[in-house]
Amino acid sequence: MQIAQDCVALIDYTLTNDAGDVIDSSQGGEPLAYLHGHQNIIPGLEKALAGKTAGDSLKVSIAPADGYGDKNPSLVEQVPRHMFSGVDNIEVGMQFHAQTGGGMQVITVSAVDGDTITVDGNHPLAGETLHFDVTVKEVRAASQEELDHGHVHGVGGHHH
Ligand code: ZN
Repeated sequence: MQIAQDCVALIDYTLTNDAGDVIDSSQGGEPLAYLHGHQNIIPGLEKALAGKTAGDSLKVSIAPADGYGDKNPSLVEQVPRHMFSGVDNIEVGMQFHAQTGGGMQVITVSAVDGDTITVDGNHPLAGETLHFDVTVKEVRAASQEELDHGHVHGVGGHHH
């Protein structure tokens, strides 16, 4: 069975950046299960997996436009330290949930300079070219319930 619209695919993957650092991987855990054609994964990876079958391996590099998008400079802001009341030690890399004009968003502290904290609301992988090394473990038809929910149930998917 080939990966196509409304299929469930289970994949093992390793994601590296341009420097070759491993950013994310399914190694040592469950494979990732996703519902093809339902925006469960980034568009570039979904496109590369279409037509593949169990046992296929592929390496694919995905530009930001087909990944998490380009970095949006307007999402980088400097805010005063007192905005983080209750947090004793603010460090680069800390993540917070913040209510913004665009709704609830994860922001990452990207710089700390005295009482000025720089926060970045971009996805941590925005602007990055993503290098995936993927092996397809299994392809199956989705159940009606999975199609209704728009995501996979069971191994590698949602448990609810
Ligand atoms: Zn569900």
